[in-house]
Amino acid sequence: MEAFREILWNVPGGPWAIYPVALVVALILLYAGFVRFLDVWRRGKPEDRFHPFWSRIGNFIKLGVVEGLIHRKFLRELYPGIAHLLIFWGCIILLLGAGIDFVGHYWFHSWVHGTPFLIYSLINDIGGILVFIGAIIFIIRRYAQKPGAFQERLDRSNDDLIAVSLILAVVITGFFVEALRIAAVEPGTEAAWSLWSPFGLVISKSFIGLSSGTNLVLHQALWFLHLILAAGAVVYISLFYNKLTHIIVSPANVFLRSREPKGALQPINLEEAETFGVGKIEDFTWKQLLDLDACTRCGRCQEICPAYLSGQPLSPKKLIQSLKEHLLEQSEYPFKIKVPKTSLLIPEADPPRSLIGEVIPEDAIWSCCTCLACQEACPVYVEHINKIIDMRRSLILEQAKVPELAEPILTSIEARGHVVIGTTHTRTDWEEGLEVKHLSENSQVDLVWWLGCQASLEDRSVKIAQAFAKILKAANVNFATLGTEETCCGDPARRMGNEYLFQMQATKNIELLKNYGVNKIVTTCPHCFNTIKNEYPQFGGEFEVIHHSQLISQLMKEGRLKLTSRLNQGITYHDPCYLGRHNDIYDPPRQVLAAIAKGDLVEMERNHWNSFCCGGGGGRFWVEEKQGKRISDVRIEDVIRTNAEIVATACPYCMQMLEDSIKSKNAEESLKNLDIAELVAEAIE
Ligand code: SF4
Ligand code: SF4
Repeated sequence: MEAFREILWNVPGGPWAIYPVALVVALILLYAGFVRFLDVWRRGKPEDRFHPFWSRIGNFIKLGVVEGLIHRKFLRELYPGIAHLLIFWGCIILLLGAGIDFVGHYWFHSWVHGTPFLIYSLINDIGGILVFIGAIIFIIRRYAQKPGAFQERLDRSNDDLIAVSLILAVVITGFFVEALRIAAVEPGTEAAWSLWSPFGLVISKSFIGLSSGTNLVLHQALWFLHLILAAGAVVYISLFYNKLTHIIVSPANVFLRSREPKGALQPINLEEAETFGVGKIEDFTWKQLLDLDACTRCGRCQEICPAYLSGQPLSPKKLIQSLKEHLLEQSEYPFKIKVPKTSLLIPEADPPRSLIGEVIPEDAIWSCCTCLACQEACPVYVEHINKIIDMRRSLILEQAKVPELAEPILTSIEARGHVVIGTTHTRTDWEEGLEVKHLSENSQVDLVWWLGCQASLEDRSVKIAQAFAKILKAANVNFATLGTEETCCGDPARRMGNEYLFQMQATKNIELLKNYGVNKIVTTCPHCFNTIKNEYPQFGGEFEVIHHSQLISQLMKEGRLKLTSRLNQGITYHDPCYLGRHNDIYDPPRQVLAAIAKGDLVEMERNHWNSFCCGGGGGRFWVEEKQGKRISDVRIEDVIRTNAEIVATACPYCMQMLEDSIKSKNAEESLKNLDIAELVAEAIE
């Protein structure tokens, strides 16, 4: 006899036992989605996150494979990553199995017969056991591991316990239903095929000896319990917007993720905007509010955040959860559950609370160095930085509140066009003896070099400019600078929230560059690089922009730079956030260093996308760290652990931050901090 299983065996009414439950669940799902849409997400301001639609679909499928099927981001942390992968794949298998049952019952009856049936049975059993093992790993990790810093990340809540209990209950009742069916069938018929349902078969041994009548009744009762639990799980997920809701919201969040360059902040239309930035929860866009529901509280962003890890008053996870709690506080949605009490909310402030100050403390808003580590780590593509910058915009443009130390910088950009307060240099002093051309004298050049404020005006950083000029000359590059016409690109103003000042700088610079007919720009600063490349196009400034590390690497490959000596010291490389995470430029600086060093480059434990910020981005370069450790001190400890004698950088801000920490650690004798341009200039002399 051919192997098969009667679908809905021993279920009174057959599919009619499922229809009413399915109808109720579908209605609840629709209700929850609709009310949530009207009452919560629609509170936000409009934002177009659907275009380009077909390209989004293609990208979503690609990401579905990389982040969903392969779990790229989850598996960066092996233990929880594997647990999630097991549950994910197990659920996919079980859902596909249910789908095959459904289709096989109504249309393709032959599907669940013979060998395909046996394989299907085995795969279904494996699906169930994967979910079971994954859920057990989660329970051990969450409830049995020793307390410590790790627990702070997990912030256990009843919600988590209910979620994992529901998953386990559905899977276990599923196995018992299968086991009772196996125990009930006549020996010699289906029993032989039961070997293909090994886990159900093992459990079925415990029912040997039950009378056939008892077995059938028990099977029916458990089948209904299994159905109610599965339906209850869907209702719980959809209605209560708990941790498991990410099954629905997170894929939507991935589909709607920003398609702009990672390093670009979105502009404010200064002429039409009624308010600037976000001062209350409704000022966020609907997509920013959707982000709050998509967050699963996994803590990956918090665990990688340099501000949090160095003891500053900011945790990206808590920031998102506090915003979510505040949003729900204001919502009429009847099925709210409380998020765990680990948020940034100021506890003594009773609702209604002000968004800035009581929900998100100002200190937290100013503690972010916009390093992007949180967003790179987040498996569901929550966007933290735009929310933080939007709140800074409100503080600066609506409330005129700027951190004390940062205020002179904004004034200096406005008044003098640069950020180097107290400098005695002019924009061209560094050129002495180097015969550098300016565009005002000759605009027939292949390349325009944008120096940035630090490299042209700050004592230590001008050495980077001098070194890079030597390299360009050695390689016979036809280049010019803007000389005294160059002004701040506007990055510090934009990251501090002064969008007005940024747009003023951007439009002025774009006009200047366009007047000279500039096409290609090289920068010595990753912040200028990111701003001109990714943000100037928002104002009509389309230029080809490369970073000096890319150009040096290219010149070396073309054989235009001849090395006369090679570095004999141990060397490590610090990835600047605005070059690495913001623009995915990781290899060119390493290729340059590999070419000039005799030995291998020693990587720090945290490198590439996982690199630890120097603490100088997002305007933090000028803001004093009042709490915890200095972020750059933490990074220098990373450097010292490599035993390298040189830490190479490719950003003048990183250089100054790290150099200060080398001094504060009294490590000047054993550790030097040099830009890759300085190292190459030395090697070609
Ligand atoms: S951008 Fe960096 S500093 Fe800011 S919250 Fe994210 S990880 Fe923390
Ligand atoms: S924002 Fe992303 S990384 Fe952070 S806790 Fe939420 S889901 Fe996890």
